[in-house]
Amino acid sequence: MVGFYMSKQKKREFDLVTIFPETIAPYAQASILGRAQKKKLIEIRAHDLRDWATDKHHKVDDTPYGGGAGMLMKVDPIEKAVKKIRAKRAKKIRVILTAASGKLFTQKDARRLAKYDQVIFICGRYEGIDHRVEEHVANESLSIGPYVLTGGELPALVMLDAIARMVPGVLGSKESLQSESHDAEGVLEYPQYTKPEVYKKWKVPEVLLSGDHKKIKAWRDDHARK
Ligand code: SAM
Repeated sequence: MVGFYMSKQKKREFDLVTIFPETIAPYAQASILGRAQKKKLIEIRAHDLRDWATDKHHKVDDTPYGGGAGMLMKVDPIEKAVKKIRAKRAKKIRVILTAASGKLFTQKDARRLAKYDQVIFICGRYEGIDHRVEEHVANESLSIGPYVLTGGELPALVMLDAIARMVPGVLGSKESLQSESHDAEGVLEYPQYTKPEVYKKWKVPEVLLSGDHKKIKAWRDDHARK
């Protein structure tokens, strides 16, 4: 984005507001995300929405006005949670509502959101969330695809994963951001092969073994567009 303010603060913070906080750590602590947290490049925190419920039963849902099936997540605990979680030191904060009805999340969004100091995800459950959250608490509503999941935890983790790998230093030397699918519109990653050269009569394309870099590049460009 032209003229976008890039904070000098190195660590990117991700916060997830959920009624199932225990679902986040197993994924967030593994592999690249876990390593990036140890290196203090990113920090991922899961918050139990029930901590901000105001009644003694820690109720975070209620019936919809006007009738209808199922329960909705209430606006007040979510608004209180987000207000508390917003980091004072973070200059650029984005609050994302996970919603099947939201705008489709793309690689472009991942790149854009990696520039924020803190990204807060609101994970819905039940029939959904009181619409005032979208209107007054979240900056945007994002969907990970045209299907309905039981909750917003997986969508939040999917988006977080795609955003975090755009943060400088998160990918190690073995992983690369170069020539990836969706870098440019209509361009996907070209097919890649590794040893052995032949397996069960399945051969690696001849051109990749030729050592002719011009030809290899032309083959890859051609296949990326296909
Ligand atoms: N009644 C809602 C609808 O028809 O759009 C679906 C609610 S869904 C059972 C519960 C929660 O899961 C949603 O509030 C949202 O947070 C999350 N969710 C489900 N599917 C999603 C998707 N494709 N993308 C993002 N979030 C999703």
